[in-house]
Amino acid sequence: MSCDFLALAQPGVQKLSPYVPGKPVDELARELNLDPAGIVKLASNENPLGPSPKVLEAIRAELADLTRYPDGNGFELKRRLAERYDVQPDQVTLGNGSNDILELVGRAYLAPGLNAVFSQHAFAVYPIVTQAVGATAKVVPAKDWGHDLPAMLAAIDEQTRVVFVANPNNPTGTWFGPQALEEFLAQVPETVLVVLDEAYIEYASGGELPDGLDYLSRYPNLLVSRTFSKAFGLAALRVGYGISSARVADVLNRVRQPFNVNSLALAAACAALADADYLAESRRLNDAGMAQLEAGCRALGLGWIPSRGNFIAIDFGRDTAGINQALLAAGVIVRPVAGYGMPNFLRVSIGLPEENQRFLDVLGQVLARG
Ligand SMILES: *Cc1c(COP(=O)(O)O)cnc(C)c1O
Repeated sequence: MSCDFLALAQPGVQKLSPYVPGKPVDELARELNLDPAGIVKLASNENPLGPSPKVLEAIRAELADLTRYPDGNGFELKRRLAERYDVQPDQVTLGNGSNDILELVGRAYLAPGLNAVFSQHAFAVYPIVTQAVGATAKVVPAKDWGHDLPAMLAAIDEQTRVVFVANPNNPTGTWFGPQALEEFLAQVPETVLVVLDEAYIEYASGGELPDGLDYLSRYPNLLVSRTFSKAFGLAALRVGYGISSARVADVLNRVRQPFNVNSLALAAACAALADADYLAESRRLNDAGMAQLEAGCRALGLGWIPSRGNFIAIDFGRDTAGINQALLAAGVIVRPVAGYGMPNFLRVSIGLPEENQRFLDVLGQVLARG
């Protein structure tokens, strides 16, 4: 008789479900025998612009050194990030996506008997990095789909080492303002690391969302995590970073894989950071697409959660599994969020104008059919 290797896994891992990514275009094409070129994917909050020519050029230049290990310290990218954000290079931790930064936090600060606090409907990676190391996830009920920061504060106890807050949050798109963050940080015990996940911060404007970096000098227990996957358009390459006190960065560095960010990703991130036009175009496209999807939802009589990300959670007022299937059959991939406790919603990433329109047209047909 063979033994059960699930039962042998540590209890936190047994209770996890694997992260469910957006369905790849080629997978749907295979399953339904569709032409991949005709499929629209609005499921993974990817940048619809495609890669910046400057990024492609930087990658091509780097190819000549493919036999070499990358710079394990990411000197040049750290230097550029430090310059841009007015911090010291030793405050920067580079990650294989910002997902990696979240994992480093889990490995460095969480363990059995300790816990991490985060919100209901928060990013799915928080429970994974918490339970993977045998720590306990303290999930705080959301308020109006967003983080209930006072309730999260109240959930912090002696065993809490980390609080994960996403601003804006994925998949809800909800956000909080500078004053709410200030009040929160002022009350979190200084022994608790606040991981402020700002994966979508580059899309925000007008001071509506706080810039987490503004709080670093006063809160040594703050770590701001950001990514090149969204507004900078490098999702495939996997580059993210944390900015924190040098002390926290030093700790994360101890558990980091030596060469966690590859050389093409490092070169691409440097080029992306310098490409102001691309970022401006990402934002413009996102603002226009958000307005387009909101208008489309309104026309279809659908509600949604106001969002400051590059996606929107649409409220169908009923289970969306059937609607999602019908969209897939028509070659439109969006993201079901039942796994996030939101079975009546679908999360739709902002695409190019024609992609958004295709989604709205197909959705209109699906809903008309009942
Ligand atoms: C997309 C996302 C990330 C990070 O993605 P990476 O590609 O790993 O950098 C982190 N947090 C949230 C909330 C996200 O939506």
